[in-house]
Amino acid sequence: MAAVPAVKHWRTALERVEKFVSPLYFTDCNLRGRLFGDRRPVAALASFLTPERLSYEDAVQQDFRPAQVGDCFGPTWWTCWFRVELIIPEAWVGQEVHLCWESDGEGLVWRDGEPVQGLTTEGEKNSYILTNKLGEGDSRSLTLYVEVACNGLLGAGKGTMIAPPDPKKMFQLSRAELAVFHRDIHQLLVDLELLLGIAKGLGKDSQRSFQALYTANQMVNVCDPAQPETFPVAQALASRFFNQRGGESQHTLHAMGHCHIDTAWLWPFKETVRKCARSWVTALKLMEQNADFIFVCSQAQQLEWVKSHYPGLYAQLQEFACQGQFVPVGGTWVEMDGNLPSGEAMVRQFLQGQSFFLQEFGKLCSEFWLPDTFGYSAQLPQIMRGCGITRFLTQKLSWNLVNSFPHHTFHWEGLDGSRVLVHFPPGDSYGMQVNVEEVLKTVTNNQDKGRANHSAFLFGFGDGGGGPTQTMLDRLRRLGNTDGLPRVQLSSPDQLFEALESDQGQLCTWVGELFLELHNGTYTTHAQIKKGNRECERILHDVELLSSLALARSAHFLYPAAQLQHLWRLLLLNQFHDVVTGSCIQLVAEDAMKNYEDIRSHGNTLLSAAAGALCAGEPGPEGLLVVNTLPWKRTEVLALPKPGGTQSLGRSREEEPSPGDRAQHGLCACSHLHLAAASHTPAASIRNAGAPASSTSKSRPPKTDGSVTLDNGIIRVRLDSTGHLTSLVLVASGREAIAEGALGNQFVLFDDVPLYWDAWDVMDYHLETRKPLLGQVGTLAIGTEGGLRGSAWFLLQISPNSRLSQEVVLDIGCPYVRFHTEVHWHEAHKFLKVEFPARVRSPQATYEIQFGHLQRPTHYNTSWDWARFEVWTHRWMDLSEHGFGLALLNDCKYGASVRGNVLSLSLLRAPKAPDATADMGCHKFTYALMPHEGSFQDAGVIPAAYSLNFPLLALPAPGPAPATAWSAFWLSSPAVVLETVKQAETTTQNRTLVLRLYEAHGSHVDCWVHTSLPVQEAVLCDLLERRDPAGHLPFQDSSLKVTFSPFQVRSLVLVLQPPSN
Ligand SMILES: [Zn+2]
Repeated sequence: MAAVPAVKHWRTALERVEKFVSPLYFTDCNLRGRLFGDRRPVAALASFLTPERLSYEDAVQQDFRPAQVGDCFGPTWWTCWFRVELIIPEAWVGQEVHLCWESDGEGLVWRDGEPVQGLTTEGEKNSYILTNKLGEGDSRSLTLYVEVACNGLLGAGKGTMIAPPDPKKMFQLSRAELAVFHRDIHQLLVDLELLLGIAKGLGKDSQRSFQALYTANQMVNVCDPAQPETFPVAQALASRFFNQRGGESQHTLHAMGHCHIDTAWLWPFKETVRKCARSWVTALKLMEQNADFIFVCSQAQQLEWVKSHYPGLYAQLQEFACQGQFVPVGGTWVEMDGNLPSGEAMVRQFLQGQSFFLQEFGKLCSEFWLPDTFGYSAQLPQIMRGCGITRFLTQKLSWNLVNSFPHHTFHWEGLDGSRVLVHFPPGDSYGMQVNVEEVLKTVTNNQDKGRANHSAFLFGFGDGGGGPTQTMLDRLRRLGNTDGLPRVQLSSPDQLFEALESDQGQLCTWVGELFLELHNGTYTTHAQIKKGNRECERILHDVELLSSLALARSAHFLYPAAQLQHLWRLLLLNQFHDVVTGSCIQLVAEDAMKNYEDIRSHGNTLLSAAAGALCAGEPGPEGLLVVNTLPWKRTEVLALPKPGGTQSLGRSREEEPSPGDRAQHGLCACSHLHLAAASHTPAASIRNAGAPASSTSKSRPPKTDGSVTLDNGIIRVRLDSTGHLTSLVLVASGREAIAEGALGNQFVLFDDVPLYWDAWDVMDYHLETRKPLLGQVGTLAIGTEGGLRGSAWFLLQISPNSRLSQEVVLDIGCPYVRFHTEVHWHEAHKFLKVEFPARVRSPQATYEIQFGHLQRPTHYNTSWDWARFEVWTHRWMDLSEHGFGLALLNDCKYGASVRGNVLSLSLLRAPKAPDATADMGCHKFTYALMPHEGSFQDAGVIPAAYSLNFPLLALPAPGPAPATAWSAFWLSSPAVVLETVKQAETTTQNRTLVLRLYEAHGSHVDCWVHTSLPVQEAVLCDLLERRDPAGHLPFQDSSLKVTFSPFQVRSLVLVLQPPSN
């Protein structure tokens, strides 16, 4: 006779089931306690400890010593290799046998010389399946190696995750044994856990919740853990429940295996190489066992690492990619920061990434994949489109501190009007564990209910790697189509986006940047990394340009394509979203600086080689080659090296315009410097330059109040005796740029203690701790008296530990005043900024972004406005009213703000986690101030900011330099910038260049591109350099016409004629 049903109290029923599956309670009699059957110790265990990250081949040659469970090893960043000898008992024939392994650190199992599976306790990977079913004749003895890295999934922080790594951390092996695994019990546990999740997740108001609970309760009734023959009845109860279908309108979750691996973060780049192997080989194991399992993988760099370090694993990856189970996504070299990289660098992320994916996997990615990055530039839609991508996935905006982003699926319209389809997984995570709570949240949290009925569900341990587990897959299977829950399918990005695209008529549109209201300190943290980034972007630009011109002019010049690819990839690697942002540990910052040093030294060698090729064969005096790498005429003072290491000032030659001579028009106006004036005779140089006497730059002697005035006939700068800027006047109009009674060049110090994410976050409340640094009266002194250059300098004690010195420099003919700054910075949780209160009133300020600029409010009206109290910019920002404005330029800074009339540039922070040494030491940087009449476009703020960042090059000419100045390109429109000149990536003939231009003013414009290069053919192409079939441009009279819409980026292929020499 059947048992009488009990009333079934909600709580007792629920907790009864919980205890039945508990790993903690009642394991002597519950189901969980019987998951593993017989156990045996391993036959022999030996270990070898090394500070190196050795290859398998090297490691197994080493001297292994006997080891045992309980042994400790370390310290942090070392590696312990274990040799594990196993003999499986004969009695286990017919059973599933696992190696159960529990240790600290991250393990990787090697079998027969190949990696086979990751083992990390944190990632719920504690056992390696030796055999699914031991056969009669199977070999029962084998030797495995387990390579254990002495770091956790998330590094080795001392105390908390983001604390600097503890270098002395020790690690322990706590379990190494063979065990019989009961698959049927595992399946019942999965059923019961899901039923519990459904009961709890749907709650007492739901009929379905009770059905789940009662099903689970009944399963416990019928299931005797000691009697496997009772399991099928329990399993049947579960199946009946899970097979009760949902309705046709159910929301669909597209579950994709995912494993976010930060390319460097709380661990160094080199460890990431191994993280990839551990994580991906585990995913492959799951693919072997689950033919429908799809795993997405981004970041070409990581694939390239695995290709070179683990060729066997890589070959397997490619096979699974052919079968559609391993899906490369993203299209970029790394998951880069979405704010700081230049426009060209962003293009190169895709160019390097997509060409890698095409070469290695036979196709381009069709979606940009950037789940974990701190905001997204308004130019990304155009860049994506130009790189064959129309879809974008991220979720980071769910981290917004102030405002909830109103969509999960929407059209994103960029600065130029380009649109892409964007999806944020509504569960607000890229590392789902696959529990019912997450599944339900994905549905309930979806901001586009009624508009989008499909969502991504990315499952697998992430950030430090790890990835999905078999248990996650088993859970997903149960949830395929069950009443009360959304439909769940194992899916690919293609399937998800196709489903979203098929029904996109209802979707809303978001215009402009996707600003993350958090992590706004990452625009400033690790100033040396930021400086390296800006500088190396410039070096690669210059190398490509000069090499392209050398290619055009010399038959013998070999374009350094392979070296440039290598250097670009180093730069792109450093633009990873925890490196250029400064949110990494000290080891990573050191590696990043080495990468920049490589780019600097190799880049400068390449520059010299190109300069040499440009000079070859030209008659003329030997000496210096002065090169302007910008697409417009420049006349500037430059410092020249003199024998003995000193410098002298010279002025780049300015020639009278003459027909047919475009030297004065810029891009690569290679000219010989005629004015290598000695420092004490600058006046002669001015005369020789033919400059009007009135335009000399003068430092007027200090007045009795200690103030100094600099005047170059264009602007007049007055500094008080402490270095404050008390006046900045446009001489011609007499217009004052500094607010009445206010002080410019005001350094201010803030307390900078965020809520948690130290290197990442600066909080709104830091603004309440503003302390102006006053300086000492009488510290201002004349630097350079005048002539080509006038300057004054001063010292400022920031605190007992930190000091600042600054030279304020005004050059002849220059529309801006520069502030060369050196700071010795030794602070804790302080933020240094410099402020300029402007005599300008405007509700909006303008900030440069990639290939353009945008406006942000200068007030805090709404929560969306004040959440942007700290924003990012590139080389300039501007506050303009009708007819007048003030621009603040910089050579390596990214953090900024304009509140009211005060332009503020963020200079240095002092966070202590995850790098306690971040930003300590000496910093050199330059910012500049440019008052202007009219709009910033018409006044030339954009070329000025370029000039500050791309100084004229004075390269030693190995041979005779060109006697006459020579110019390669000239543009008819000041609105258009020729950003890049490079050799085409893939071309059968190497004499093909790619030009990239963009419209920088925000206007529709027709632009004539004039060139002195021998052009045979000109064709428009996309950012991947694929020719537009309808893009042939007529080339006549050395010119071609290109049409632009606002902020449009256009690329063209120029095929050159064979060289004459
Ligand atoms: Zn990340």
